[in-house]
Amino acid sequence: MVFLVFFISATVIAKPVLKNIRISKEDLETRLVLDLSETTKYKVFTLNRPNRVVVDLYRSNKSSKLKSTIGKKGLISKIRIANNTSTKLRVVIETEDIVFYKTSHIPSGSNTNFRVVIDLKKAYEGSRTLVSAAVNKQKMIIAIDPGHGGKDEGTRGKRIKEKDLVLKIAKRLKSLIDNEKDMRAILIRDDDSFPCPQKRSNCSQIESLNERVLRAKNAKAHLFISIHADSFKDSKVRGATLYALSDSRKIAKGSDYKIMYQPKSKKNIALKSGVSKRLINKIKADQVQAYDQSKVIGQAILSELKKDVRMRKKIPIEAQFAVLKSTEIASVLIETSYLSNPSDEKFLINPINQNKIAAGILRGIKLYNANSKKEILK
Ligand SMILES: [Zn+2]
Repeated sequence: MVFLVFFISATVIAKPVLKNIRISKEDLETRLVLDLSETTKYKVFTLNRPNRVVVDLYRSNKSSKLKSTIGKKGLISKIRIANNTSTKLRVVIETEDIVFYKTSHIPSGSNTNFRVVIDLKKAYEGSRTLVSAAVNKQKMIIAIDPGHGGKDEGTRGKRIKEKDLVLKIAKRLKSLIDNEKDMRAILIRDDDSFPCPQKRSNCSQIESLNERVLRAKNAKAHLFISIHADSFKDSKVRGATLYALSDSRKIAKGSDYKIMYQPKSKKNIALKSGVSKRLINKIKADQVQAYDQSKVIGQAILSELKKDVRMRKKIPIEAQFAVLKSTEIASVLIETSYLSNPSDEKFLINPINQNKIAAGILRGIKLYNANSKKEILK
């Protein structure tokens, strides 16, 4: 015990030294580990123009062996390390894009350092991919997800089950989309089956929901549209609802990720500086700045849908549905109205109206594409 007391007092006296920065990168995530010789207080905050995550390490010094700048790696464009004041060592992590970030630390052990861990994660990949597909000459790929299926009937009206109704609407939408020369649709399920990973015959709801998004990603879809029908105990409630999430809300609550600070701007689509407008027909996702496109395309679809379908709300509603949470793919979920309401059910089972719903969704996508072109050429 005497030894332990001595050890703690020695820790207090010694000044922490930042010995090393380790960086591991994957396509969509980058992790930094700051190795310090001693425990220290630290603070993390973010700044813009350029985008920066700043880590202040109190009472710390940099090891002379550690370079004061580190070049591009993963989501990091540059790192600078310098004493900000005599009592503060500042590590500035520049990123090309606005990212999600998460901070944690690992206490020092008997033979390990004190470590500050910063995780960076792409935030707007889905939005940028959608914009580039909207303005490009390449085909836009749209994944249509008829909700439920197989063992999971969804809700049911007096005359139809949700899983059967939404498959009909999805098939109509697919054939309309496939008639467009610059679009192509894929169906997440094209029969009465419950989508499960690795073609398993059975799985849980959450496994199925993840599998649906995965199938869309594997098909390189730019947009994911999930189609459902609603039900409510009060049979008077009726009308369709469109759901979409803003990008910063796609991170699950309690995941510890935060979105980097960004200045308020009305423009949520722009070309990155240095990218020529003349190349608009072949723009890649990483040449665009864009966010919240799930909500923007949701609004466009809603504005067309409401011409033929009674809508409950005039704007997309934010809800944490599993299929809406991917940051890698823009997504909307449409509750085509209520099977618990007799008038809505009558409307929904009529093939003419199923076609109207599909046509409205398609017009909405086309409107979004046209608006995105205009916006980016401004
Ligand atoms: Zn449903």
